[in-house]
Amino acid sequence: MAANGANDNVELGFLEETSPDFLRSHYFPSKVGGKPSWLSLNHLPIDINCKTCGKPVIFLMQVYSPDDNVSSAFHRTIFVFVCRNPGCSERNSNLNFVVFRSQLPRQNEFYSPDPPNEKVATPGPSPDADLCRVCGLLGPKRCAKCHSASYCSKEHQVIDWKNGHKTACSSKDASGKTIVKGVLFPELELITEPEELDDVSTDDECDTKGENEKWQEYKDFLKSDKADSLLPDGASKNELEKMATSESVDDKVFRKFKERIKTNPDQVLRYHKGGQPLWVSVDHIPEETDIPSCSCGAKRQFEFQVMPQMLSHLQVDQLGDSLDWGTLCVYTCSNSCQIGNSYHPEFIWKQDYAAEKQ
Ligand SMILES: [Zn+2]
Ligand SMILES: [Zn+2]
Ligand SMILES: [Zn+2]
Ligand SMILES: [Zn+2]
Repeated sequence: MAANGANDNVELGFLEETSPDFLRSHYFPSKVGGKPSWLSLNHLPIDINCKTCGKPVIFLMQVYSPDDNVSSAFHRTIFVFVCRNPGCSERNSNLNFVVFRSQLPRQNEFYSPDPPNEKVATPGPSPDADLCRVCGLLGPKRCAKCHSASYCSKEHQVIDWKNGHKTACSSKDASGKTIVKGVLFPELELITEPEELDDVSTDDECDTKGENEKWQEYKDFLKSDKADSLLPDGASKNELEKMATSESVDDKVFRKFKERIKTNPDQVLRYHKGGQPLWVSVDHIPEETDIPSCSCGAKRQFEFQVMPQMLSHLQVDQLGDSLDWGTLCVYTCSNSCQIGNSYHPEFIWKQDYAAEKQ
């Protein structure tokens, strides 16, 4: 991941299968699904619940993106969590998402100051004992029988019990891994490369021209006598004109979105720290005042957006989940402020497609 501040280049993220071993914390991965590979191993966030249903959220993805300008952010990872409850996915609402930033200086208590070496097996830190066996979040609750299995919540303890711990618990082999289908998302590596485009600017100009012409034709039509006889009862030309304008702007935003991604249709992430998101609709674009400042006082800036293409890798459809988004835009502290070892909340903005695109 590009380590610099604002720059003109967008980095695109793509998903690839890889050995899960390379996605553990000491490799500082960017990834989607599975359990979180925590960066700081202290002060993990506790009780991260969905703001709609109150149930525990599930790890969605993490993006490793150091900030070269801040020594305490030599390592820096943004974590995104989501509630899988279909009822909690509301249009243009971020209430079922939670985002955290974790960062560490080069010299820290968890990792070697040198890059991990794939040839020499360096066992990474393994805090598993205190993590929920089902989801990998902090697990302060223990199984009352074996006292060795940890859980984030009653919900996950029940899920684990039904999916094998009932047997494992009494067989004194409570260390066995739990993989419960339909709880976590499939684990994939997120790799990034600079965006390369073919001839988008030319396409854009053509679009605008064609659209203006169409719009002029439509206005001319409205002025003509023919329009009056076709108008529905009670609709004024002005109202129609207004509707047509908003549709046309929205079509333009959506077309721009499709144009921009068509060279790299598999992109699941667009990373452009300090840049502008690529919106899928003209509706529900945040004003500056909609993005809350960091608790340190600094403004939050756009860092990356999750694309709708990611949904197809999450295997949610067959479960009848209605987890959905047009795009998810993550905004983070522009100062990458020093937060010790703790996990600092950041901000996410969810934009859905305009109603007629669904
Ligand atoms: Zn929920
Ligand atoms: Zn859990
Ligand atoms: Zn047990
Ligand atoms: Zn801050």
